[in-house]
Amino acid sequence: MSAAPENQFHSDLYGGRLTIDVDAISRNWRVLREKLGGKSECAAAIKADAYGTGQKEVGRALFAAGCRTFFVAVPTEAIALRQVLPEAVIYALNGLLPGTSGPYLEHNIRPVLGSLAELEDWIALCKSSGRSLDAAVHVDTGIHRLGLSPEEFSQTLGDAGMMGPFVPSLLMSHLACGSTPSHAMNRRQLDLFREVTAPHAHLRRSLANSAGVLMGEDYHFDLVRPGISLYGGQAIDDDPNPMTPVAKVEARIMIVRDVPEGDTIGYGAMHTAKRPLRNAVVAAGYADGMLRRAGSTDERPGGFAMISGHRAPILGRISMDMITLDVTDIPEHLLERGTYVEMLGPNVAAADLAAYAETIDYEYLTSLGRRFERVYGPLT
Ligand SMILES: *Cc1c(COP(=O)(O)O)cnc(C)c1O
Repeated sequence: MSAAPENQFHSDLYGGRLTIDVDAISRNWRVLREKLGGKSECAAAIKADAYGTGQKEVGRALFAAGCRTFFVAVPTEAIALRQVLPEAVIYALNGLLPGTSGPYLEHNIRPVLGSLAELEDWIALCKSSGRSLDAAVHVDTGIHRLGLSPEEFSQTLGDAGMMGPFVPSLLMSHLACGSTPSHAMNRRQLDLFREVTAPHAHLRRSLANSAGVLMGEDYHFDLVRPGISLYGGQAIDDDPNPMTPVAKVEARIMIVRDVPEGDTIGYGAMHTAKRPLRNAVVAAGYADGMLRRAGSTDERPGGFAMISGHRAPILGRISMDMITLDVTDIPEHLLERGTYVEMLGPNVAAADLAAYAETIDYEYLTSLGRRFERVYGPLT
């Protein structure tokens, strides 16, 4: 177990602790790679600070595990990652914003070109330097965010004069409905991606995020780009999640108190005690990434925490700096002042909590706050 360098204070001074198991992330990466049967490359999406788990640490660990290609979103992430991984292939998914081509070339970052304008700018750069400069081309097969339209893609890539010396290092697209494999959109995107890239099948191709990896070989092509599955998240709804949890959030109990029947708890008086309750106030709030929407009201239950194997439901609204938990049925000796309570982790799946907050585990992971002590090591 090692404390992260950014911790400035003694453990006692933090309201809680975020533990990240980087080895578990590497194990998850190997599990996904196994699914490819050696036929395609397993890259890694480590944007948004590796989904909140630490880009530097995760980048290093995955490179050591054998990962050679990394996807981040924005130029700052790409350049920061280059500092840690001098030899890796790094793609910036958000592409070529004005002013970024110089730094991309300087740091050997490959943009994922997401519009005709970006592609034209990059081709101009290739033409003026008289050679191909590495970059991916993104074709939109139906998500309507980034990517050239299939027509723009086919026209430009099929026009040797227009392309000049530029040979894309990767052709890619992105699935809109991977979390629901039965959704007709998946097949439609797969067919369209095959069709538009068929004349360029000698180039490397990539379609799959985590869900695409799990959906099987048809979706794998030459390279896959899993993110959420590396971090133990739920890529496919309603399936048993095959991945290992990699993060644990624990908050400390500040006080335990009684709430008489009929009294209310927290801001807005949203939750009324329907019997005499005992509640524990813990030092984690929405400023620490405990999404406010997971609070409870008289009409609907909220999320929960775990205290030594006991479930402790969230009572009332989640505040900025604290959460109130129902500990009425939990033995007193487990509730000592200062005790660490599991708010998210092996016993509180981010995907379960996310269901109460009407969101997805991606949002939980990437929201994890910077106010906790950060520890790298096993979750136990
Ligand atoms: C974020 C992202 C991924 C990874 O997606 P997951 O669902 O987290 O596996 C892959 N490709 C693109 C283009 C992305 O934006």
